[in-house]
Order: sequence, then structure tokens, then C-alpha cells
Amino acid sequence: MQYDALIVGGGASGLMAACALARRGRHVVLLERQNRVGRKLLSTGNGRCNLTNLNASAGDYHGSRQAARAALKAWPPNRVMDLFGELGIPCRADEAGRVYPMSNHAASVLDALRLCCDEHGVDTRTDFAVAALKKVGGGFEAVPADGQAVRARLALVCTGGLAAPKLGACGDGYRLLEGLGHAISPRFPAIAALKTPPEAVRGLKGIRAEGGIALLVNGEIVREEAGELLFSETGVSGIAAMQLARQANEALRAGKHCTVRMDFMPGIDARAALKARADKLPLRRMEDFLSGIVPKRLGQTLAKAAGLDMALPAGELKPAQIDALAAVLNGWTLPVTATLGFDQAQVTAGGAALQGFDIRTMQSLRCPGLFAAGELLDVDGDCGGFNLQWAWSSALIATEAMDALL
Ligand SMILES: Cc1cc2nc3c(=O)[nH]c(=O)nc-3n(C[C@H](O)[C@H](O)[C@H](O)COP(=O)(O)OP(=O)(O)OC[C@H]3O[C@@H](n4cnc5c(N)ncnc54)[C@H](O)[C@@H]3O)c2cc1C
Repeated sequence: MQYDALIVGGGASGLMAACALARRGRHVVLLERQNRVGRKLLSTGNGRCNLTNLNASAGDYHGSRQAARAALKAWPPNRVMDLFGELGIPCRADEAGRVYPMSNHAASVLDALRLCCDEHGVDTRTDFAVAALKKVGGGFEAVPADGQAVRARLALVCTGGLAAPKLGACGDGYRLLEGLGHAISPRFPAIAALKTPPEAVRGLKGIRAEGGIALLVNGEIVREEAGELLFSETGVSGIAAMQLARQANEALRAGKHCTVRMDFMPGIDARAALKARADKLPLRRMEDFLSGIVPKRLGQTLAKAAGLDMALPAGELKPAQIDALAAVLNGWTLPVTATLGFDQAQVTAGGAALQGFDIRTMQSLRCPGLFAAGELLDVDGDCGGFNLQWAWSSALIATEAMDALL
């Protein structure tokens, strides 16, 4: 049997594409390598699925910003939200514009997409790993490792990136597209924890602190974020730190020197504050002196980083020692040696080069009738709903163009 469209990958973009085409009456087969569709979706937004962001703009994206801009123009966040409303998922936004399903459950987003597929007759085949995608006669053939090949007039590849292999990420899609003439840009983790020398963060595992964090490349600030910083035995994470990973990786890959500067008293002159504190608490030893401004263990690490003896009472601090302590409170600086790898990353930077696609339709310029969408392509967004926004919008652009060809 020949389908109108075959979709490789039943993740966010593949499911959305299958729904959109099937709702237009198209005969669709959705091929998913894992034993169920949408596994990664269930883990998004800490199980709440931050499905888009009302403030999304091209500046929230990296790789091909042009493609991100085109997708946002065709399918802006409000239009995506309306579509989810039609699928049974009313949404609401938080103060930062991050949009979640009203249920606050990622599972309901997956259910809505899955049910829409079922209700509109999508032939969903799980445990179907597409090993080869071939152009044949009037269409495409998706060949599994073993079993029967599937044919369709048009093909859409939505196999995602390399981030979070435990949730099914693999590199298959790059190979499939390469086989059809596409170039793949180098890939590296984005939205991932930063690694620092372990001795610098020893003892801080699990410690959280609010603050500002800046990434410096060769001494120049390239990006600043604020929010909760979470320390581990290998470095620092938390959304603010993870947002810096893409640029850190880019710089490190280019052989540049990277550091992070953390400010635990943002907007406050730590020197004056510490001086007043030392006057109030002259007997307080350095091991406890910063406790209350930051968690105790972090306070001890900062005091050590400032070169202070843990037994020294605050009343005996010399002006230069107060300066040193203020410097680490307002700007503790650590080298960034790497980021965590794809195992722990949320998104893939790099991927199938957009030069090979018409970004108005997501159709291949190398192989007519072939389309691609989602994280597989060389577009990645910051944390905050931007990556799913790209997955939905690129898939929806593709399906509109596919529908027009059918
Ligand atoms: C822990 C975590 C939390 C996240 N939270 C958010 C969030 O809240 N908001 C946000 O915007 N983004 C978030 N992201 C990123 C977002 O989930 C992804 O960018 C998005 O899922 C990409 O969609 P996709 O359809 O391109 O790929 P995926 O959703 O990864 O789907 C690809 C599918 O293709 C299948 N596949 C691969 N190869 C083959 C093959 N050969 N044959 C058949 N099937 C194949 C895979 O099994 C998979 O099911 C998060 C990511 C992670 C890891």
C-alpha cells in the first residue's frame, strides 16, 4: 500500500506533523524506532512540558536564525497555542512567557497528539527503526532493519538530535539525510551543565544559590544569565548556567579560554555589606561568616577561595581581606573545562544544514518530495519552550507544503 506521506520519528515534530496531515484527510504512516511514541516529550519541562514561549523571537535561537525566524512568522506561539487548544490542550503562560498545558502534565500533551493521530487514521508503527530511506519511482521507501518496507509519495524526517539518548535520541536521521545528499554541520551539546575543575567545587554537590552568572570567552563577557545555580561534583548547572553551554562549547571547540563569573549578591556592593556585617558579627569565624548570604558550605568555599583562614574572626578582617571576600561574592570566577555530554544535555546544536532546505517549506533542495523538521536540523533554541516551538512550527510548515503537493 502506498501512503500519501511517511514520517520518520514519532517525537514532538513527527507527532505534530502526523496530526496536521491526517486532519487534512491525508493518509499517513508514522514510523517510530522505540516501542512507544513521544517518550522525550514526557520528560520535557520537568514533566510539565514547556511547549512554547510567548516572547519567542529569532534571537532565542542559534544555528540558522533565518529558519527560526521563518518558522516563527508562519507559526508564532499564539497560533501554536490555538492549535493545541483545538487538540484539547488549553494552555497558560507564566510571568516569563513560558507556556504550559493547563493540566501541567506533559503526558496530556502527548495524549492529545497520540489521540488525534488515532482519531484521524494515522498508521502508527512503533519498533520500526528506519535503516534506509530511498527515493523510488514516484515517492520514497522507508526500509527497516528487518521486516517490510513502507512506501509513500512524500517523506518527512523528524528523528531529533543526539541529546538524551536514554529517551531515544540517536544519530539515525543524519545518516538518512546524508544518504539523500544533505550536509550535516558539526553537532555538540547545548543546554547542559558546565564542567569546572572538580577541586574548585568539591563539597558543593547539591548546593543551590540564587545569583548571576556570566560566561567569559578570552576574558570578554559573551552572555549573562540570572537564576538558581546548582552545584555538582563536576561543576555548575541550573537553567542559568545551562543556558551558557552552547556558547561555552563553541568557544572551547575553537580553542578559546572560557570562564564563568558568579555573582551571589547581584546589584549589591558586597564590600560595603561585608564591612557592616563584620562590625555586627565581630566574633563570627570565617567558616560561618557568609552563612545566611549564601548556604554555609558555599560560604566556606568562597572564604577559602578568598584565601581566608576558617578560624579567623570577622572582627580581625583587614580591608584587603574584605576586598578579597567581596570579590568572590560578587564575582567568583572558575575556568570552564567542558560541558556535560549529550547524555545529560537537553538539546543538540548543529545538525542538518538549512542551506539544503527551502526554509519556507522545509522541503529538501537536494531531493524533491523530502522534508525535515525539528531538532535534526541546524536550529537550537535557548531553554524556555523555544525548542518545542521550533519542533512544532517547522513540522507545521512542512505539512502545509506537503499537503499542497499531494
Ligand atoms: C530532559 C529534556 C527536557 C526538555 N524540556 C523541554 C521543554 O520543556 N521545552 C522545550 O521547548 N524543549 C525541551 N526539550 C527539548 C525538546 O524536547 C526537543 O528539542 C524536541 O523533543 C525535539 O523534537 P523532535 O521531534 O525533533 O525530536 P524528538 O522529540 O527527539 O523525537 C525524535 C523521534 O525520532 C525517533 N527516531 C530516531 N531515529 C529513528 C529511526 N531511524 N526510525 C524511526 N524513528 C526514529 C526517536 O525515537 C524519537 O522518538 C527538552 C529536552 C530534554 C532532553
